[in-house]
Amino acid sequence: MSTITPAASVMLTRDPGSRSIYAILRGSQLRFFGGFWAFPGGKLTETEAADTDALPARRLAACRELFEETGVLVARTPDGQFPRIDDEMSRCRKAILDEHLAFEQFLAQRSLTIRPGDFACVGEITTPAFAQLRYATTFFVAHLPNGQEATIWPGELERGEWLDSADLLGRWRRSEVLLTPPSAMSLMGLGDRPIGDAPALLGPLFENLARGAIHPILFAPDVQLIPLKTVALPPSNYTNAYLVGSGPRYLIDPGCHEPAEQQRLFDVIDAGQPPTAIVLTHHHPDHIGAAEACARRYRIPIWAHARTAEKLASLVDVQRFLNDGDRLDLGPSPAHAGPWRLEALFTPGHASGHLAFFEPFYRLLFAGDMISTLSSMVIAPPDGHLGDYLKSLRRLRELPARLLLPSHGNVSARLIEVIDAALAHRVKRETQLLEALGSGPIGIDELTQQMYRGTPEPLMRFARAQVLAGLLKLQAEGRAHPADAERWQA
Ligand SMILES: [Zn+2]
Repeated sequence: MSTITPAASVMLTRDPGSRSIYAILRGSQLRFFGGFWAFPGGKLTETEAADTDALPARRLAACRELFEETGVLVARTPDGQFPRIDDEMSRCRKAILDEHLAFEQFLAQRSLTIRPGDFACVGEITTPAFAQLRYATTFFVAHLPNGQEATIWPGELERGEWLDSADLLGRWRRSEVLLTPPSAMSLMGLGDRPIGDAPALLGPLFENLARGAIHPILFAPDVQLIPLKTVALPPSNYTNAYLVGSGPRYLIDPGCHEPAEQQRLFDVIDAGQPPTAIVLTHHHPDHIGAAEACARRYRIPIWAHARTAEKLASLVDVQRFLNDGDRLDLGPSPAHAGPWRLEALFTPGHASGHLAFFEPFYRLLFAGDMISTLSSMVIAPPDGHLGDYLKSLRRLRELPARLLLPSHGNVSARLIEVIDAALAHRVKRETQLLEALGSGPIGIDELTQQMYRGTPEPLMRFARAQVLAGLLKLQAEGRAHPADAERWQA
């Protein structure tokens, strides 16, 4: 399982009584929320993380990150003043960024200290367990000292801007910017209130999340990711359900079987309008676990592709068949910019009845199990078909999608890179397969042993399915065929 990295983040304001906040745009190349707007911050250094007195260590990290990223130094001279940021200070900022100078040493040399009251603690948020990169981030509110200015140096961050917090939220609603879910949650929690009210307004919300409530993970307005514990294949033990829309509202892939986890899902759904329908991307158990329970509780139908309905005949009652090109109306968009909808895309390959969904206003791709940000997808014949899968994947690559919302793993703004990596992986596997076939007839088990050496035993049957899928694809292309009952040859 993933480890949790301690981090600190700063809501920097020019005036705690106003909504003025300093927001930064993260570089598009970054793996963690590249291309998203957020607040300054980052992970603790090893020394900071080793400090057992957690809050002062996080405050120190907040002060350091703020200085590194924006050049703003919220530390006090012995006479209680804030320092002037001159050229020498900027050289130190560079040295600290490059790890040539320890921040503590820099503060000590100048007799600077951090006052707890200068970093008002809002609370802590831990990335839920569905993501591979997880941070336990403490949020602080700090005030820009008189005479200092915030400046971003090009690199990991693209730019920074002073914005009105409600305006930033408005830009997000209009699909002009991406916001990290904690930033969106914080700004929504603040509403029209000044930044200085953040500890009082957001503190109780953060505490509730720490007690185990499902995080309101919003990647666009009224588009909520709900990570649910399921019996999925390692490395994933979560499946993301999505709740989309506020008028007509659709619940995509409620996958959890356990009653306690289903109750957590109900708690999220009950906070808003009941859904209009449950929509399934495909029939696998980790996507349908709560479908019947939700259908009963909210008296709503289940929709899926006809082939998915066929697979689920004895388990789930599918009441409407969805086809490629079908549009699911979502009512007026949150930006009041005309109609809002989901478009069904028939994308067979991982499963014969697989559907993905595209939302054109925020340009969201609900990819189901077509692609994940955790690992490559299993293609298990006869229902799985590698040739179809690659065709479907290339089709998704052509969409003008800005965000990839997969069933497993975190959301990514790098759809093309993620798909290209998946395609390259398949090419590599095919090359390996052809090489192994080159030395004469060989059985599937032996091929699997050769190609998937080191794979944990419980996963070997999935590896075997991958090999079979590869062989069937080569056979369809006339590049391999069975030599006898057990063996294959090129
Ligand atoms: Zn699946």
